[in-house]
Amino acid sequence: MRAEIVSIGTELLLGQIIDTNAAYIAGELPLLGIDLYYVSQVGDNLGRMTEVLGRAWSRSDIVITTGGLGPTQDDVTREGIAAMLGEKIYADATLEKEIREFFAQRAWKMPESNVKQATLIPSARPIVNPRGTAPGWWVEKDGKLLIAMPGPPIEMQRMWEKEASPRLRQMMKGEVILSRTIKTLGLSEAAVDELLVPFLKDTNPSIGVYAKSDGIQLRLTSKAARREEAAARIAAREDEIRALLGSCIWGLDDETLEGVVGWLLAARKWRLAIMESCTGGLLSSMVTDSPGSSAYFKGGVVAYANEVKVAWGVPSGLIERHGVVSTEVAAAMAAAIRERMKAEVGVSTTGVAGPDELEGKPVGLVYIGLDDGRTQRVVEANVPRRRVDIKKRASVHALFELRRLLLDGG
Ligand code: AMP
Ligand code: MG
Repeated sequence: MRAEIVSIGTELLLGQIIDTNAAYIAGELPLLGIDLYYVSQVGDNLGRMTEVLGRAWSRSDIVITTGGLGPTQDDVTREGIAAMLGEKIYADATLEKEIREFFAQRAWKMPESNVKQATLIPSARPIVNPRGTAPGWWVEKDGKLLIAMPGPPIEMQRMWEKEASPRLRQMMKGEVILSRTIKTLGLSEAAVDELLVPFLKDTNPSIGVYAKSDGIQLRLTSKAARREEAAARIAAREDEIRALLGSCIWGLDDETLEGVVGWLLAARKWRLAIMESCTGGLLSSMVTDSPGSSAYFKGGVVAYANEVKVAWGVPSGLIERHGVVSTEVAAAMAAAIRERMKAEVGVSTTGVAGPDELEGKPVGLVYIGLDDGRTQRVVEANVPRRRVDIKKRASVHALFELRRLLLDGG
């Protein structure tokens, strides 16, 4: 099955909104075993929309549209679909009643323009939309399928999850699709790609390589007649990938670095203390994104100015001798915070967030300190990017190094 997504709305073409609907649906289709060949965007213009829809209909088995189902004059997706299929639009009494009830239940007065949303064409069935007034359309004709959904992401995603996706799954019966995401850090996208060359052309499982803020992710997708077969294909490929990427792999599927680290800390009954400089609190914030972090997170200090580092126990002579962005200061920060907060492990960050260099050190140079009372480690990271990205990358890197320490150490 070949699908095409058509995102409809002039806002998209003006760059006012980003096409997150297409990204969402694109992420969902592989799980159903549906191939996505094209994504198109078109404004709220009847002629151009009809043309784009016609092209999609002629080259794809499934066309999925979002947007343009609103009550206002500019929303003409229904008209576009009707024109493309050469069908006549009519008002459906049941749908109109439902829309009137939607307003009545909320004690809102219904603008008469909303009646427009109660229209259908002969080959369309309505798709319910409990989060809004615009029903979707499910159109089956000539062995093809068109699904029209509203633009607002919360309405679209609900409709997709509860209505469209289950029906598509039913249609695709007889085939099982499984996927697995492998999450890595420490290798560039190009390096991962190079290591995976022997597998990249395979289609079952297929491999996608994506750069994310928490590292490079690989997505394996396998299709088979039976679940066990798809699972076995993925497991075999995962083993091969583990042999190649080894310690760079930190998690699978929905796992997060802060979740993995939290789990390891809890398993050891260790508590964590953080003194961060260039990450400005982000590292502590990420740690507390994990539910249950109160069990292992003692606290974090944003020691931005040198005197605050000194007040929290970093020897001032060390800063003068080595500079604040240095291995020595990173180590001292981690040791000091661990002792002050009576934690089992201390982590620190100190680096150059830019835009200007500091102490003659380049933007993006970051030292991450780790101290568990017995071993002290300092890791150097280089992330020559914009400030916010440096903060994010450095925080992610610190969590990755903490994971490593928790796995290796005593
Ligand atoms: P519409 O259904 O065209 O009236 O769209 C209503 C609103 O939904 C728009 O103003 C956007 O905020 C949002 N929206 C529409 N299309 C998209 C899209 N492709 N991706 C993300 N949001 C969208
Ligand atoms: Mg619109």
